[in-house]
Amino acid sequence: MACSTVSMKLLIDSESKRVLFAEASKETVDFLFYILSLPVATVIRLLRKQGMAGSLENLYASVENLNESYIQPSQTKETLLKPSLPVGISSVPLLRMNNTTTGRNYYTCNQCRYNSTRVSDDPSAICPACSRKMEMVVPYVAPPGKEKSTEGGFVKGVVTYMIMDNLVVNPMSTISSITLLNKFNIKNVLNLLEMEVTLGMEEAVKLLKASLQSEKVLTDVFLDCK
Ligand SMILES: [Zn+2]
Repeated sequence: MACSTVSMKLLIDSESKRVLFAEASKETVDFLFYILSLPVATVIRLLRKQGMAGSLENLYASVENLNESYIQPSQTKETLLKPSLPVGISSVPLLRMNNTTTGRNYYTCNQCRYNSTRVSDDPSAICPACSRKMEMVVPYVAPPGKEKSTEGGFVKGVVTYMIMDNLVVNPMSTISSITLLNKFNIKNVLNLLEMEVTLGMEEAVKLLKASLQSEKVLTDVFLDCK
């Protein structure tokens, strides 16, 4: 699945080789927050590619391998293995990072758009008239009073956000970053480095894994000191 990247700026203490915090845009914060809404099966599927889902992977594989004859006729394996994502997060950055600017998408058939009144919320739907995929995006119009959320995602984009190494997220403020330098006991600011990093699918999976087991997620993912 094609996905673009989001970037963030890390403040690194080169002496202790750790990330103090990251300065991040709305897109990055949306990406992190949306992790909370992913079904466990989706998380396992993402992590198992790198063999790191622990025993949950065995649970997943057990369902995969179970013969259909043991399963209730009204059930399918797919329900458990590929759960549908919660409504309204069709733009989960982890899965479709190039789609973070829209809140809600509807699709129609490009071929029949002038005489079709059919829309779908899934671009893999097949047009009943011509059997093509209904991939053309139809603009969504919000009812009065709700039209403000045109930027999509979860948090507002008016400020920059600060992400700590342990993934505590807050709106950025100059004063708090100065207080933090004190708290981190930084004696020599010359040891501080700024580094711009991008978060693509590979980093996203590493981050997901690190966030389940580490208190220094950004350091683990971007400074690669194992
Ligand atoms: Zn059509």
